[in-house]
Amino acid sequence: MTTPPTVFAFCSLREVANSSALGGGPTERNAIILLYSPNLSRQVKNEGKFLDSEVTIIGAGPYGLSLAAHLAGRNVRFRIIGIPMEFWRSAMPEGMSLKSEGFASSIYDPNGSFSLAQYCVDKGLPYADVGLPVTRETFVSYGVKFQQRLVPEVEQRLVTSVVANEEGFSVRLDDGEEFTTHKLILAIGVGHFAHTPPVFTPLSEDFATHSSRHSDLSGFANQDVAIIGSGASALDLAALLLRAGARPVVVTRGATIVFHDRPKLPRGLGSRLRAPSSGIGPGWRSLFYCRCPILFHYLPERLRLRQTKSHLVPAGGWFIKDAVKGNVPVFYNSEVEEVSVNGDFLLLRPARGGARCQELKVDHVITATGYAVDIDRIDFLDESLRMRIETVEKTPVLSSSFESSIPGLYFVGAAAANSFGPVQRFAFGARFAARRITRILVKAASSR
Ligand SMILES: Cc1cc2nc3c(=O)[nH]c(=O)nc-3n(C[C@H](O)[C@H](O)[C@H](O)COP(=O)(O)OP(=O)(O)OC[C@H]3O[C@@H](n4cnc5c(N)ncnc54)[C@H](O)[C@@H]3O)c2cc1C
Repeated sequence: MTTPPTVFAFCSLREVANSSALGGGPTERNAIILLYSPNLSRQVKNEGKFLDSEVTIIGAGPYGLSLAAHLAGRNVRFRIIGIPMEFWRSAMPEGMSLKSEGFASSIYDPNGSFSLAQYCVDKGLPYADVGLPVTRETFVSYGVKFQQRLVPEVEQRLVTSVVANEEGFSVRLDDGEEFTTHKLILAIGVGHFAHTPPVFTPLSEDFATHSSRHSDLSGFANQDVAIIGSGASALDLAALLLRAGARPVVVTRGATIVFHDRPKLPRGLGSRLRAPSSGIGPGWRSLFYCRCPILFHYLPERLRLRQTKSHLVPAGGWFIKDAVKGNVPVFYNSEVEEVSVNGDFLLLRPARGGARCQELKVDHVITATGYAVDIDRIDFLDESLRMRIETVEKTPVLSSSFESSIPGLYFVGAAAANSFGPVQRFAFGARFAARRITRILVKAASSR
């Protein structure tokens, strides 16, 4: 982990962005900023009291970075803590591609000046709004460039604890620094919420790991690997493990596996009317979720929960279908009921419709069984604080400004999906979250 240089200066962001130390290019933002020193207390006057920071964002993925770029655009003082694009670097396999289309895979600044399309033009990388998969490598390098250009303030550290105090929240970092912030925005994605079926949890990591533990698959060459699940992550892993020289099998409870269809381009009027394009895939519902997250927020809770859960069934990208179909054995309708270690091997005993089926002998199991948001698993939040957060199905209940039942504590991204719809699970939802929270914070500051 790198510690940013100690710099203390008032200067325009244009100067900062042009400096070779930060590696940025010119930008249109001319806000006066205060670069931070890790050891420097930055005190901000607030209602007669002094706080170390007015607003703090935890997480520097697409949501944290979009929000920071928007706050900076309105001269709101903030700190942002996290390793840029860390989840995409360490929890996604090398060689995978995004399922979201190019036009829906940007990180957002208020002027839309540095989209993925712009980055690819600058770098001479292949790009299309639709129909050309965006590689993980391109998305990560774009995110890092976005951070360097538009959010140089990122402090590349981790938050280890958050406790409520009189001013707001006391935040502790992994290097021991402690500061108080008035408002805290959690943009932590799903990394804390990996879900593993209980049958596999007693196994050591030598035998069973969650998909999020793997970015480099080369260690699986010549091994038999069972992948549990049938969503995009499972099917990506199947294709990439095969490419890495492993022998993968997929074990799924489902009766089929589904791949998206390759988009037929250009789309005719009839096709667009039947299923209009949206940032989370074609369809009228998806379009509604993308265009009207605030209306979604006002739907009855039961309906919101149902829609968020059921929208978008697990499916692989069209671009991996040929690699998987016919090349990777799939055990359908199968749920692993028992697992035992036999020397260097694992024996899996799946059952189909209650009936035992053939035992599987493998070197390793990867559970590609997704993520389930659960406030109680955010280990850096003090327990007494967590217990005061009003929840529904273990996710925070949020106001129309993304604020939880604890004043000043906000959630964006996947943790906000039950409130603002499935679009919050995708990078595409970051623009709405960033705009909305920025508008509300600016309004609150100007009315003080
Ligand atoms: C296999 C898979 C494929 C996906 N494919 C797509 C896709 O094609 N298109 C798409 O739009 N979305 C996709 N997603 C969803 C994707 O995770 C989100 O779109 C996106 O990453 C959300 O951004 P975020 O900023 O909310 O979360 P993240 O990108 O996860 O960023 C959150 C960051 O917070 C940091 N953090 C957590 N705790 C702390 C702490 N205590 N201190 C400091 N930092 C902390 C993490 O390190 C992380 O980097 C996919 C997800 C998975 C799992």
